[in-house]
Amino acid sequence: MLNVLTVEETMRLIDERVKPLGRTQQAGIGEAAGRVLAEDVTGTEYVPGFDRSTVDGYAVRAKDTFGCSEALPALLTLSGEILMGQQASEKLQPGCCMAVPTGGAVPEGADAMVMVEHAEDYGDGTIGIMKPAAPGDNMIYRGDDITPGKVLLSAGLVLAPQDVGTLAAMGKVQVSVSVRPRVGILSTGDELIPADQAPQEGQIRDVNSHFLAAMFAAAGGAVHNYGIIRDEDALIGAALDRAIEENDMVLISGGSSVGLKDAACRLIEERGELLMHGISMKPGKPTILGIASGKPVFGLPGHPAAAYFSARLFAMRAFWNLCGSRQEPVKVSAVISESIGANHGRTQFTAVTLTGTPGSLTATPIRSKSGLITSISAADGFIAISRDSEGLGAGAKVEVTLFRALPY
Ligand code: AMP
Ligand code: MG
Repeated sequence: MLNVLTVEETMRLIDERVKPLGRTQQAGIGEAAGRVLAEDVTGTEYVPGFDRSTVDGYAVRAKDTFGCSEALPALLTLSGEILMGQQASEKLQPGCCMAVPTGGAVPEGADAMVMVEHAEDYGDGTIGIMKPAAPGDNMIYRGDDITPGKVLLSAGLVLAPQDVGTLAAMGKVQVSVSVRPRVGILSTGDELIPADQAPQEGQIRDVNSHFLAAMFAAAGGAVHNYGIIRDEDALIGAALDRAIEENDMVLISGGSSVGLKDAACRLIEERGELLMHGISMKPGKPTILGIASGKPVFGLPGHPAAAYFSARLFAMRAFWNLCGSRQEPVKVSAVISESIGANHGRTQFTAVTLTGTPGSLTATPIRSKSGLITSISAADGFIAISRDSEGLGAGAKVEVTLFRALPY
């Protein structure tokens, strides 16, 4: 019998039963992007370590420039030039200025930088300042970026390129990251052939194992694609045993319904605990979740679009739980271009394209027969219509979860 849960109940079940693996390793910053940070990173030093100029110009004492103008420049003595990567050898004296390039060290005694555009070099060791500077103008102070103890990055974060930059800024070239969860993927079906072969009548190419492998690899998983398994209990059972043994989670696509030939549920149950069989959603209803040897095992529907939603919504959530990370989907607001019916009692996921500009986006549903993978490829995102909805009228406000949003 189907133990059918709602979408929300399934999310809660996954959160209750799929916990972080807790295995960590050190990663060099060259390989750290896309990995899940396993430590809180706090500042260990002052960055920058000295006051810096943000412009090409002259380091001054702001009060020496008060009241100056183009008509009445403040005349300062040029007492030195600071080269990139070097410190001033002496303190800036009253009535003096020093030339400093962008990023160069501002000498002690100076409290502002005047842009070269607002100064004139008279060539006799005197600089005319045409615009008064306020203390702090055009400067970054020691520690503006990072100070010791400042919380910079929190455990669970998927490291983005800018985070790698933050690590580099303070010389942290190794970080603790979660070990990549191993994800085993199996496709089942007598009609399936490998993607590089030509189908005979009645055969189709295996779509699911390929996009599932790509989905979990893109999320940072260590993917093992076991390919196509014929619809025989002994073969699927043996492949499942191996996949459970060799991975931290397993996805098996096809045969997840209740038909006689549908083996996934039976075979998962034989190997562990069956937690759920069926989610009140469309597409994707025949989704299974079991736990075998402590590892989540998902049975996904064969129809590619259904498998996609099921994997993306649920198997991905389990994956992030294994990583010790929480990922919230990126959503944008839009209005729907045309009315759309609902599936009473089931959450309906509909792929949409987006047109317009942020703030006034229109979502157009992609009307396609169920299961077509290209309907997902052609879409920009999807909307969820709640299971107690009677449907949406044209112009209704919707939240669109983006399919192609990068994490940075
Ligand atoms: P099943 O869930 O095994 O009953 O399959 C449902 C539908 O999805 C059938 O039309 C299958 O041919 C198709 N299907 C199953 N597995 C795959 C796959 N790996 N790639 C593409 N289509 C599939
Ligand atoms: Mg099948």
